[in-house]
Amino acid sequence: IVRLIDIRKTYFTGDLQVPVLKGINATVKRGEFVGFIGTSGSGKSTLLNILGMLDVPTGGEYFLEDIEVGQLSDVEQATIRNRKIGFIFQSFNLFPHLSVEENVEVPMVYGRVPGRIRRKRALELAQRVGLGHRLGHRPTQLSGGECQRIAIARALSNNPAFILADEPTGNLDEKTSDEIMKLFHQLNREQGVTIVMVTHNPALGPHYDKIIRLRDGRIDDTLFEWEVKALEKKMVAEVEAQRKT
Ligand code: ATP
Ligand code: MG
Repeated sequence: IVRLIDIRKTYFTGDLQVPVLKGINATVKRGEFVGFIGTSGSGKSTLLNILGMLDVPTGGEYFLEDIEVGQLSDVEQATIRNRKIGFIFQSFNLFPHLSVEENVEVPMVYGRVPGRIRRKRALELAQRVGLGHRLGHRPTQLSGGECQRIAIARALSNNPAFILADEPTGNLDEKTSDEIMKLFHQLNREQGVTIVMVTHNPALGPHYDKIIRLRDGRIDDTLFEWEVKALEKKMVAEVEAQRKT
């Protein structure tokens, strides 16, 4: 679904040049659950914004479903973004003056979905994340985990094929994070939604199909600690199995 070829991003601020991405090559297949990891400032959010067409790279090519995004007009990009992509952020980014229901409906308003259908769908989505009874509340009346569930419901409202999540559990405690991760897993496994998620937490590594690690503006493909451990375990098991036969 996604192919990145030598993607580069340099921020220019006055005379200052900040090269952040220095040639990223990566693919995400349809239905994959991909984790992005890297130290703070390594360019994870920058890359996610490029994937979501919220930012443009200064070099390289980005193919989304075989369309080269750089060739599209702003309007065409916005259309694809509204139809295919759902965003979830660390800080939820809900509209504080809108109710839960209105928040969930926002992308559908942009998508010109009629009011009656919007309300029906908002209710279904809120129920799906376990908050069907909170539609009339404001975000300030909800807990952090509840806000994030609403943000997920909102991201799902236009039925995206592709979800981009920037540290969606960064502001949540461990138990709530687990619940949110379970929700993402369900979406991925049961509905085949492709998910790219930035995370600080490599302990969650085994939950992903693939982990892309950024270091110094490039992809670092040296093995993770947990990968090494998993490999060792497998090797030991194989040796054991051989000895038995
Ligand atoms: P974190 O884990 O802290 O969220 P990150 O990996 O998401 O970090 P980015 O937000 O992508 O990092 O930022 C990467 C680098 O780019 C940082 O050094 C940051 O200062 C710089 N940067 C980001 N946005 C801009 C901008 N608009 N102008 C100049 N520099 C920027
Ligand atoms: Mg970031």
